[in-house]
Amino acid sequence: MTGAPVEADWAAAVAAVRDLPADARVQLICHVNPDGDALGSMLGFGLGLRQLGVRRLRATFPGPSEVPEPFRALPGLDLLVPEEEAYPAPELVVCFDAASESRLGALVDRLDTAGCALVLDHHASNTRFGGINLVDPHAAATSVVAEELLTRLGVSLDAAIAECLYVALTTDTGSFRFEATTPAVHELAARLLATGIRPGDISRRVFDTRPFGAVRLFGEALGRARLEPEAAGGRGLVWTYATLDDLARHGQRPYVLEALIDSVRCTAEADVSCVVKQVRPGEWAVSMRSKGAVDVSRVAVALGGGGHRFAAGFTGHGSVDEVVAGIRAELDKALIGA
Ligand code: 5GP
Ligand code: MN
Repeated sequence: MTGAPVEADWAAAVAAVRDLPADARVQLICHVNPDGDALGSMLGFGLGLRQLGVRRLRATFPGPSEVPEPFRALPGLDLLVPEEEAYPAPELVVCFDAASESRLGALVDRLDTAGCALVLDHHASNTRFGGINLVDPHAAATSVVAEELLTRLGVSLDAAIAECLYVALTTDTGSFRFEATTPAVHELAARLLATGIRPGDISRRVFDTRPFGAVRLFGEALGRARLEPEAAGGRGLVWTYATLDDLARHGQRPYVLEALIDSVRCTAEADVSCVVKQVRPGEWAVSMRSKGAVDVSRVAVALGGGGHRFAAGFTGHGSVDEVVAGIRAELDKALIGA
């Protein structure tokens, strides 16, 4: 694992923005199936660039351009365009929260067509695919990296920027519950809150609001969860799944399933938890969490994905049982210290 950015990296990133010609096109890209950190750090950074006077500025992500309901009140959404409308050859492209090129989908070609590619991320598994890489594996969220760069660029935090960065920070720290919640994270939160944003309203919108159909769907998925105490060398695995048919029966969009893992991972008897979500026939988006005994990013990387030690994911193929069998096999290899 490579460490945090050094001064030269920050200086290069600042220069890449400061030295842009006045009419330069800047394209911001976050990862496919964007979460709060991806969208929040991208839009917050975009609003900061706008404050600096960057006018030709677009933000996008690969795949369907629908923004998940919890993020539809984010400031800066007017920067978003469908991926087809992304600048074909921008002077600068900035990537957010993407650990590897594969997370950029069809937009990956911008790494070649752009004058300069800047990567902002915090995944230990990041492959450093940009020309300039600001990758801090110790940062709680990509928004932590984004805020430092904004500060170095002389941007002053306003409430709109702060709301974006706050959504990103709370999403990736599990509302300040995870291990990465350092004093610096709370200091950043304090700076963001000082702009006057309303944490109660934001949290309710982002974390605590879902359609009744989603509540029923969660009940069904949780009702068929399986506990395998002997898995992961006796540390235990708990898992469940949801299909496209489940979503259709309850009239729900796929994003509602993002929160399902939080209801599964509280299982006391299992170190590792897993939710297998159907994307299309034979294809599954897999979310994994660990309480610490198992490094799930190793499992995810072995199965073609990535992530962090305590939270990782990958795309699985075949039946649910085949996907879970693959996880079981990798879990035994991934025990920390093994
Ligand atoms: P989640 O389970 O919330 O979707 O993702 C947890 C973590 O795993 C995130 O840091 C996310 O970036 C990473 N992750 C999830 N799915 C994939 C995937 O298919 N590929 C890669 N490389 N990382 C993933
Ligand atoms: Mn993140």
